[in-house]
Amino acid sequence: MSVTSEPSAHGPAQEPGQVIDLHAHSTISDGTESPTELVEAAAAAGVDVLAITDHDTVGGWEEASSAARRLGVTLVPGIEISCAVGGVSIHLLGYLTDPDNAALMDELAHARESRATRLERMVARMAADGIPLTYEQVLAQVAPGATPGRPHIADALIANGTIRHRDEAFHEWLGEDSPYYVSHHAPHPVRAVELVRAAGGVPIIAHPFTRTRSRGVDEALIERMHAAGLVGLEAYHRDHGPEQVARAEAIAERLGLLLTGSSDYHGEGKLNRLAERTTGADVLDAIEQASSGETTIVRP
Ligand code: AMP
Ligand code: FE
Ligand code: FE
Ligand code: ZN
Repeated sequence: MSVTSEPSAHGPAQEPGQVIDLHAHSTISDGTESPTELVEAAAAAGVDVLAITDHDTVGGWEEASSAARRLGVTLVPGIEISCAVGGVSIHLLGYLTDPDNAALMDELAHARESRATRLERMVARMAADGIPLTYEQVLAQVAPGATPGRPHIADALIANGTIRHRDEAFHEWLGEDSPYYVSHHAPHPVRAVELVRAAGGVPIIAHPFTRTRSRGVDEALIERMHAAGLVGLEAYHRDHGPEQVARAEAIAERLGLLLTGSSDYHGEGKLNRLAERTTGADVLDAIEQASSGETTIVRP
C-alpha cells in the first residue's frame, strides 16, 4: 500500500489494479442469480476477484468455482454466518473455511433448519392477518438446498402480485420490529469466530455498523471477538456512512484488524451493485495468509 493513499467512504485508495469484491450472494441464499450467473455478472462488471458469501451455506461453492475457472475470474469461497447476541443480529463473513469441518457444518445445518421453521411461523402470522400468502408459495421461491430467508417471503409476495419490490415487504411486514417477525437459531458471534477459525477460515465482521439496524456491534463485543480470533472488519459497505467508516478504521487501527470493502450484491434483490466497494490486493493477501490453507482461492 502506498504511503500517500487516503482511505475514503468508497474504499481504501489503491493503485490501479485488481478489482476485488469479497461479499456477494447467489440463489443458494437470498441473491437472485445462480452461482454461475453471479460469476458471469462479476466478469461483466470487471471484477477480477469475487467472493461468494451465501448466508449459512457453502452450497454454491462448486458451481461458482467451475464458472470462475471458465470465465477467468478468481473466486474466494466464503460464507456469511447470521449470529445473534441479546436480540441484535450480527453477520460474520468467513473466508476459506474447510467445507468438511463437522462443527461448522453442523452449526450451519442447524441454522438452515431453524430458518425454515421460522419462515413458516412468520407466514402463518401474516396469513392470519389477511396478507395473501401461503408457505407453499414461499417455498416455491427457495432454490433446492438454498438457505431460506425473509427475502423469499418478499419474493412470494412479488410472484403473487401483492408488491413489486423486496424492499416494500421489508418496510411493511418483515422488519425486526414487525409483529410478524420471528427469530431463528443463530450462534453467538464469539462462538461463530471460534468455529470459523477452527475450520481454518478467516472471520471478518460484515457491515458492523449498518445504519438501518437499531444498534451496531458494540466495541466491547468486537474486542471479545478479536480475542477469539477475529481478523477484520468490512468497513467499506453501502450501509456505512463516513462516520461508520471512521469508527471501523479507528477500531481496526487500535486492534490491528484488516479492513475490507465489498458490495454485498444480491442481484435484483437489492440496489447494491458489484464492485461498488472494493478490497485492496494487500488485504486479500493477508486474508489468504491468515487461513489454514486447507481451502484455497480458486485461480483460473
Ligand atoms: P434473514 O436472513 O431471513 O433474517 O433476512 C435478512 C436478509 O434480508 C438480509 O441478508 C438482506 O439481504 C435482506 N434484506 C434486509 N432488508 C432488505 C430490504 N429492505 N430489501 C431487500 N432485502 C433486504
Ligand atoms: Fe442477504
Ligand atoms: Fe449481511
Ligand atoms: Zn451479505
